[in-house]
Amino acid sequence: MKVATGKSILKGIAIGPLRIYRKKAAEARRASVLSPAEELARFESARREAQEQLGALYDKALDEVGEDNAAIFEIHQMMLDDEDYVDAVKSIIETQGATAEYAVSTTGENFAAAFAAMEDSYMQARSADVKDISRRVVNILTGSEQGDVQGEEPAILVADDLTPSETVQLDKSKLLGFITRHGSSNSHTAILARTMNIPALIGVDFDESWDGRLAVLDGYNHCVYIDPAPELLSAMEAKHRSDLEQEALLQGLKKKPNVTLDGTEIQVYANIGSAGDVGLVLQNDAQGIGLFRSEFLYLDGSDYPTEDQQFAVYKRVAETMAGKKVVIRTLDIGADKQADYFGLDHEENPALGYRAIRICLTRRDIFKQQLRAILRASAFGSVSIMFPMIISVREVRDAKEILEECRRELKAQGAAMGEVEIGIMIETPAAVMIADELAEEVDFFSLGTNDLSQYTLAIDRQNPKLDTFYDPHHPAILRMIRMTVEAGHRHGCWVGICGELGADPALTETFLRMGVDELSVSPSAILPLRKRIRSLDLTKSGE
Ligand code: PEP
Ligand code: MG
Repeated sequence: MKVATGKSILKGIAIGPLRIYRKKAAEARRASVLSPAEELARFESARREAQEQLGALYDKALDEVGEDNAAIFEIHQMMLDDEDYVDAVKSIIETQGATAEYAVSTTGENFAAAFAAMEDSYMQARSADVKDISRRVVNILTGSEQGDVQGEEPAILVADDLTPSETVQLDKSKLLGFITRHGSSNSHTAILARTMNIPALIGVDFDESWDGRLAVLDGYNHCVYIDPAPELLSAMEAKHRSDLEQEALLQGLKKKPNVTLDGTEIQVYANIGSAGDVGLVLQNDAQGIGLFRSEFLYLDGSDYPTEDQQFAVYKRVAETMAGKKVVIRTLDIGADKQADYFGLDHEENPALGYRAIRICLTRRDIFKQQLRAILRASAFGSVSIMFPMIISVREVRDAKEILEECRRELKAQGAAMGEVEIGIMIETPAAVMIADELAEEVDFFSLGTNDLSQYTLAIDRQNPKLDTFYDPHHPAILRMIRMTVEAGHRHGCWVGICGELGADPALTETFLRMGVDELSVSPSAILPLRKRIRSLDLTKSGE
């Protein structure tokens, strides 16, 4: 048995085989030992197999996310049949005596560069697609996995790092847990793991020999046991069963109010990243959705989601929540959340860079598409809009003006719309300091404590080396939360917390005493939080 340690981001146990996630296509060898005719045949056979994989992906996506979202796989199929592309590959094989994988990889790079240089944003976005299809074919040719990185059996995935877009694309039904070498506990990948209720360890040093071996990921003790000894395995299986029993017991709290023993009430909402998470929201009995991280919709594809695609998703969430509040945060892309097709420049300080509302206010076309989709969805439930990364009153006014413009246009077109509350994220110290002025502009505040902590403590949330310096209970953060709640209430705004701190049971009492109106947490944290709230008596203990 071997033990490796790391940092746990979700207390829980996963037992199963380890599977190493190989991101990149293997290096494509150039010189071939085969004849050009044989390489051409290899290329044709790999292309057929890629077409089959794409067909299967299309069918799966059609079932899970609908026709509009599945269309991307059809586009990929068409690109693989594109005559120019196929001719370019064949020509490299024939004229250079190259391997099929080298020819595909080179053609992919060349076409991607050509697309990226085009004026038209639709064509630019094809750059990521051509890379994607080429990688698929190269992986088939070299025997690397990519079409199905997760394999057939459920497994604990092991990776150097997982980006948020990779994480959202994982098949949850085959994911028992994950282990990464890099990453930090406040990163979006970690947040996604919590949303999906998947045990995960970060900062683990692993090697290739782990692939396929049985392991126990112990999120309580921040470690993973490889080839666990039989006694340890059965103890862990027992602990896992008891966790499941505890979870079942928590289900007994469903339909119970979030009220303390002395009668203080607080709303407990859920954070989600996709329409697919709504099942978890209902299962855990959230009173609403306090944060829909809409950017994951953008990360999930290889092109901008259209207004209609977004509308379908928002409408589905609003309808399913049946009149309960759904707070949709407008696009918060940038920093660690990158999508190739946005073509964002490399930045020295991405967390302080071109992201979130800054992108929306300067790329109005994208912003308006999203706002129109949200406004249209508001006819189907109780929808609120929330703007991220606000630092000034000007930004809020500009965003509201664009929203009004969208509303006027939709009205002229006869579109149905409902009442929409407008709120902002309070996640910069600047916003805290001018909370009184900001509150005049909006209906609610939601404290994004992940970024607020990062900017207040000057601690990069992506950097695991800083974990020892990071104190989530730092008095500066708690004081900022209090100031925000007081300023919001002075102007009639409700104030919630949607950062990870909202789920910290050690702070629940503090937040209740501050008068926080709502806590929005990952679905798996809802019932434990309800249990905590119902055990508190604010008349008894002091802070
Ligand atoms: C936050 O910053 O606390 C927040 C909720 O937003 P995100 O984690 O998506 O940046
Ligand atoms: Mg944030």
